[in-house]
Amino acid sequence: MHVLEVNNVSYRYQRNQVLHDVTFTVTEGEIFGILGPNGSGKTTLLKLLSKELPLQSGSIVVNGRPLRSFSQKEWARFAAVLPQITDAAFGYTVKETVELGRYAHQNGLFPTWTEEDEQAVKTAIEEVGLTEKVEEGIDRLSGGERQRVYLARALAQQPRLLLLDEPTNHMDITQQIKLLDQLVRWAKEKALTIVAIFHDINIASLYCDRLLMLKRGEVVALGTPEELMEPERLNSVFQAQVSRQAHPTVSKPLMAFLRKWEFPILQHGG
Ligand code: ADP
Repeated sequence: MHVLEVNNVSYRYQRNQVLHDVTFTVTEGEIFGILGPNGSGKTTLLKLLSKELPLQSGSIVVNGRPLRSFSQKEWARFAAVLPQITDAAFGYTVKETVELGRYAHQNGLFPTWTEEDEQAVKTAIEEVGLTEKVEEGIDRLSGGERQRVYLARALAQQPRLLLLDEPTNHMDITQQIKLLDQLVRWAKEKALTIVAIFHDINIASLYCDRLLMLKRGEVVALGTPEELMEPERLNSVFQAQVSRQAHPTVSKPLMAFLRKWEFPILQHGG
């Protein structure tokens, strides 16, 4: 079943047309990666999917229903967003931040905090491995930990769809692998659909079921990693600047090695 059907979506900021007739579908339980050079429209596309920007033309249909027919609250129960994290809200602890994810589930004028809310927050914090830092102020965490806090907030929403803007930002390669392994597990166990922007082609090709590549707002490639990872095809999309990424610097055997030995930091790509 298609969780998302995006048809001929275009978008402009004033005179600047940044998306042109973007069309794709996403199936339930799929990990769907969005790739493309800086400024190609990835974040704009994600903001349209998350209802943060209004649709200007084309259509977005969610489980057979137009996205615009969802109220903000209904949408918050269906989809959780991990935006690009630039700074931390000072004064909040890990737990308080994750609790914000439960607002989507509060009803009425005087929301009540239930055992279910408490449990959802606890589980989400466990899932991202931050139980020991639950009372820590998030401004005292590392970038990678902070990223995990916001991911836990999204999980606490108990969504059917996760929209992630560069979820592995601020993470070293070991942390990236851990997080992505977890995303794969959630997609399988919770039938969670994941749409995520990635900046690393190698990582995305290893973890995504399908990839969409944008260039100057147009879809230049759409398919499984195997279909897309031919160097020639990549070069035509990304040009010489990143062509060496067509030859993965982190191979599958190396991944296995890193997982097994919890290798500290491995710089690659770039
Ligand atoms: P990406 O995520 O691929 O880097 P973005 O969607 O952030 O691309 O941006 C696509 C284009 O839209 C860029 O040229 C960017 O400068 C422009 N843009 C993004 N946000 C805004 C905005 N709020 N107002 C005007 N232009 C914007």
